[in-house]
Amino acid sequence: MEQELEFRTVKSTCGLCQTGCGVLIHMEGNKVVLVEGDPDSPVNRGALCTKGLASSDYLYNPSRLKHPLKRVGEKGSGAWEQISWDEALDLVADEFIKAKASYGPESLVFMRGSFKGGFQGTYLSRFANVFGVPNIASMASVCYVPRVNGSIITHGYNPVPDYEYPPGCILVWGANMAETRIGEHKQTVSALERGSKLIVIDPRRIDLSDRADIWIQPRPGSDLALALGMINVIINEGLYNKTFVNNWTVGFDALKVHIKSYPPEVVEQITWVKARDIRRAATIYATSHPAIIQLGNAIDHNINNFQTARAVSILRAITGNLSIPGGELSCSLPGALSPMGSPELDLRDKMSKQNREKRLNAEDGLLPTVFYALPQSIVKAILHGDPYPVRVGFVQGGNMLLTYSNARQAYSALKKLDFLAIADMFMTPTAALADIVLPVASYLEYDSIVAPPYYPVTQIQQKVAQIGESRSDYEILRDLAHRLDLGEYFWESEEACLDFILKPVGLTFKEFRNVGTLEGRKEYRRHERDGFATPSGKVELLSSQLNEWGFDPLPAYHEPPESPYSAPELAKEFPLVFTSWKSGPYRHSAGRQIASLRSTQPEPVVFIHPDTAGKHGIVDDDWVYIETKRGQIRQKARLTTDIDPRVVGVDYAWWFPERGYENLYGWAEANINILTDDNPPYAREMGTPNLRGILCKISKV
Ligand code: SF4
Repeated sequence: MEQELEFRTVKSTCGLCQTGCGVLIHMEGNKVVLVEGDPDSPVNRGALCTKGLASSDYLYNPSRLKHPLKRVGEKGSGAWEQISWDEALDLVADEFIKAKASYGPESLVFMRGSFKGGFQGTYLSRFANVFGVPNIASMASVCYVPRVNGSIITHGYNPVPDYEYPPGCILVWGANMAETRIGEHKQTVSALERGSKLIVIDPRRIDLSDRADIWIQPRPGSDLALALGMINVIINEGLYNKTFVNNWTVGFDALKVHIKSYPPEVVEQITWVKARDIRRAATIYATSHPAIIQLGNAIDHNINNFQTARAVSILRAITGNLSIPGGELSCSLPGALSPMGSPELDLRDKMSKQNREKRLNAEDGLLPTVFYALPQSIVKAILHGDPYPVRVGFVQGGNMLLTYSNARQAYSALKKLDFLAIADMFMTPTAALADIVLPVASYLEYDSIVAPPYYPVTQIQQKVAQIGESRSDYEILRDLAHRLDLGEYFWESEEACLDFILKPVGLTFKEFRNVGTLEGRKEYRRHERDGFATPSGKVELLSSQLNEWGFDPLPAYHEPPESPYSAPELAKEFPLVFTSWKSGPYRHSAGRQIASLRSTQPEPVVFIHPDTAGKHGIVDDDWVYIETKRGQIRQKARLTTDIDPRVVGVDYAWWFPERGYENLYGWAEANINILTDDNPPYAREMGTPNLRGILCKISKV
């Protein structure tokens, strides 16, 4: 007789990006049959993006890595031997020990991919700190961290938009939330239905552009100038909140003088945004009280990233939108340990001062809050031994050939390493260059706690499946730690570690399974009680800290390199401005092997204005070369008036899993980082190379 399968639903959190949407996993026996949004999650209120809806396709994808692999042929040849976990971890640990003993801990680098929403990155930091390895390279310099630092230096906290009131105006700046932050997109749409005004700032039409009161298309890379132009209008037209400015800011007089250099007519020349539109956007924002600004990843991708976040923080402050209902709030955290800023978890004090000082970029004069080694510095250290050789690498879920700027240099560097181990869910172009590949569990295969960056919440993630021999990042690091005589720093079970994270709220992980969600508290007008967490206790329009550290104390626009204005000679050969975008079905370089996602966008797409395309004889669906002075890639043309004729919008992080090892999955064919540079100038505060707004040209293939 056939046995009846048990149906059950498990509450969890999607781990396919950092957003941390709550999910309900529907199980039939041991099989995941459906993943849908959890209506009770404060992060997404039931919504899921296309990636989240494809969770079970990720889980059961036939190309998942299921066993540890050891390279037995040339790097990148695809010749692997399946080995046991013990053998794989012994080999990795041996290489770590040898490198540390022979060349010092600085000869190792631990590279992280993008944030998964949980504590994986913190575990890697803990591992590095107790092992004494100073070089952890993350994507922090190009993602989120510049924005957070800009806010914290200015007013002491990373603001959370308050949608409940709702806001009178929402300014969406370089953020395609429909495709990358689905929960906030849903809340934005709901606020619009309740009458909020909308300003969209994006060089390319996004989902929300059609609903906007005004949609502004700045020249890619010129956002800081635009923000300064808006501040100019708000101050000169007396639209600022005088009470808040008088009581709660410092440096307004200096700002008022500084901003004289950025009248709308001058800013129009820099940004290509009409002066009248700058005035209109500034006026709508300043007069539709309360207002919020949703700032996206695009802001992080140029040398003015941190100062753009500063200027946006100043906009929030002078219009009196900080800490008020419907504005931008500080929130108390839910109480559990945080993936960022919990020294008892990352054990930063275990790293000796001597080792810490050896970190690449430690002497480069970046913000004192910068804790990472920059990707471009890792690459140079491997290739040129500058300032010392890096020889051994470990990658936690990253695809550096697609995500590091100047990808050909990254390729040469990864190939040159004496030893490379990678922990990932799938074979990738980067993993193909490794000596050892370790199969990592998807979010459906291990218990965890998720603390997403955009919302003060701690959510449950629960194991419902097991594919092959995959292990969680925690288990991998714990088992490596044992082999390095560092086992005392890792709990025997992952659950014991999760108990430690939850200890401040008095729950065990077992108890948390029944709770599911812990929410932080919104703290309206907290500054009236505590002041702002800055040296002056006020919003620092003129930053005393930046002044002391030798950075611009007021945000000043610096023209990025390789732009039409900084490189007019180059512009004669490369007359177009390059920007990049992330396609909805994919997260960075992930997801191209998921059939349900790939069917929605099978090929990389470059957006070109019809007038520009016409000059080159390009029609829709033609393959097109996009070229900068560093190299050439090809993508499929989509002709659209949604983009300025002087700009092309190139699709990010493309490779072709179906092509196999031949040419490493076509990693260089459509990869935007063949076009980008990893040389200075960098963002002075964060060390970020310039990734957008550079000169390019196109031609028909
Ligand atoms: S936005 Fe991120 S967390 Fe939410 S469903 Fe999509 S992939 Fe998952």
